[in-house]
Amino acid sequence: MNPLHLFSQLQSLGGVGTSSFRRKRPVDWPQWRSLLMAGSSATALLLLVRALGLLQPLELRSLDWMQQLRLIEPVDARIVLVGVTDADLNWLDTPVLTDETLARIIKAVQKQSPRVIGLDFYRNLPVEPGRKQLDEILQESPNLVGIEKVVLEEGQSRQDGALPGHPLLVAGEQVAASDVIVDRDGRVRRGAIFPATTGPRVLEGLGARVALDYLAAEELYPELDEEFLKIAGTTIAPLEPYSGGYMRLDSGGYQVMFNPRRTAKPGELISVRELLTGNVASDRMTDRIVMLGSAAPSAADVFYTPHSNSYFRDSRVTYGFELHAELASQLISQVLDGRPALHSLSEGWEMLLITISAFGGAASQLWLGEKKRNVILAVALLGMPLASYGAFIGLGLWLPLMPSLGTLGLASLLITLNRSSQFKTLAERDALTRLANRRRFDEALQRSWMEGLRSSQGLSLILCDVDYFKLYNDTYGHSLGDDCLTRVAQVIQQSTVLGSGLAARYGGEEFVVLMPKATPDEALAQANQIRERLMALQLPHEASKISDSVTLSLGVATLVPTMNLPMGALVEQADIALYAAKQGGRNQARIYRPEMEQDGEILTQAA
Ligand code: GH3
Ligand code: MG
Ligand code: MG
Repeated sequence: MNPLHLFSQLQSLGGVGTSSFRRKRPVDWPQWRSLLMAGSSATALLLLVRALGLLQPLELRSLDWMQQLRLIEPVDARIVLVGVTDADLNWLDTPVLTDETLARIIKAVQKQSPRVIGLDFYRNLPVEPGRKQLDEILQESPNLVGIEKVVLEEGQSRQDGALPGHPLLVAGEQVAASDVIVDRDGRVRRGAIFPATTGPRVLEGLGARVALDYLAAEELYPELDEEFLKIAGTTIAPLEPYSGGYMRLDSGGYQVMFNPRRTAKPGELISVRELLTGNVASDRMTDRIVMLGSAAPSAADVFYTPHSNSYFRDSRVTYGFELHAELASQLISQVLDGRPALHSLSEGWEMLLITISAFGGAASQLWLGEKKRNVILAVALLGMPLASYGAFIGLGLWLPLMPSLGTLGLASLLITLNRSSQFKTLAERDALTRLANRRRFDEALQRSWMEGLRSSQGLSLILCDVDYFKLYNDTYGHSLGDDCLTRVAQVIQQSTVLGSGLAARYGGEEFVVLMPKATPDEALAQANQIRERLMALQLPHEASKISDSVTLSLGVATLVPTMNLPMGALVEQADIALYAAKQGGRNQARIYRPEMEQDGEILTQAA
């Protein structure tokens, strides 16, 4: 390879050269175009995938992981849980919780004057014995709230779907909804302040009702402010269909995100046996919320939450009454302690974050050096989860982490791919003339040769050499010589656009056109066309001994590749034809004939 040629190629790859020191760098439009392409296509793709709901499972799970890793907060001292376990039923020697036993439990709780009691047991039908005792204690308990199941499964009628509350409690408006909202993956991440009811009655969820009653005792009452629930100046913002990572969520009723503490239970836990044997300090429940419910796995009132199967929390399942207690605790803590509610940005801000990640990733990959951009990518891939964890812990903010990581990674990848394909074209192009370089020609020749072996079709080659080019350089200087070569290359390139073949710089001032499947006549015609077009350009060449302008000599060869022919034979024959053209007086195209190999005399005559 020509050393000059190698030098200019290295220069254009940025390996050597001085031009960048001298010249001010112009605006790099291709870079900006790459940024726009990579950034916008990564953003569009991720937003589409997200809108289709395909990211939702991942986004919900990443929220779960943050929940599991959240900081430990103390148990809510305002909440006491009384769970009826299977061990308790064993001890009570009864397979079910009878009305009599329930009445005993409520009596024992009331003795300590709790502020509110949540009773998470269905008692629409009597469980004898003891209905009378239960009715009596319920009548004496204005601070007690029972449950009713209001949300119907699809296709259920009110008769077989809903479960009414105890008649006395219903009459006293002391019932709340027991319904729990379960995400499609089986986990509870949302709580209903008001479930979406099908009936005319609007009931609070049990947790919300208990919390509202607790706050009402402190004269803090709920109000509706433009469809937003507000308690003592704190807005309890409802979930919307596109909140956080949710897509087309059924956000009916008035729902909020669950934001449970990391502790295993939302409040202190007291067993029925402790309670009934008087083993509980006399003020443990005083002025608190007591949530009564089943903690027996046999009762099947169990749910999975973000904390289920966590390495950081013991309990695998959560009982229904614990969920209601958690919601109550979360609402009260939000109003009284300013504990942040779990919330998310609006759709527009989420999209902006996702877009910024895409363009930020692409820009850093485009404009930073290799080491710097790798560091930035690593820092971003690590820092974004950390930042989103920080926002979650500190502000209760659920950021679109997964789609942002997605656009960052995808945009960076697109830039990297684009860069390597650019390098590939640079490595295949001749830097001066922009034609294919020798390496690419060699590869193309090999491919075409193999193809020809298989198909037994002919393969043609035109080899061109500028006439008296040494003299051209001597007359006009090397730099104008380069310009001349570029013009010649353009003519040759044009011929392949009009005709066919791959044009390449073979080396120095020699060019080739590789023409698979072309017949000798077609190749010769194209060679003459190149020669005539160059003449028509009339590039002045004073020192030429045959013309006033720059001319070319061309050798043409056509071969059908066979197993016993070496691949180099095609170039060799074209070179012999080119030699014949030079011998024949230059500025002409010759097609190879075997006689040409014999001696110069015949050649001259044949011309
Ligand atoms: P002929 O008609 O027999 O081909 O005569 P010639 O002078 O063209 O002879 P030859 O092909 O041997 O000359 C090649 C010259 O081309 C020598 C070299 O200085 C010049 N050359 C090769 N590569 C470049 C290049 O990249 N730029 C310039 N300016 N000149 C080059
Ligand atoms: Mg030459
Ligand atoms: Mg020459």
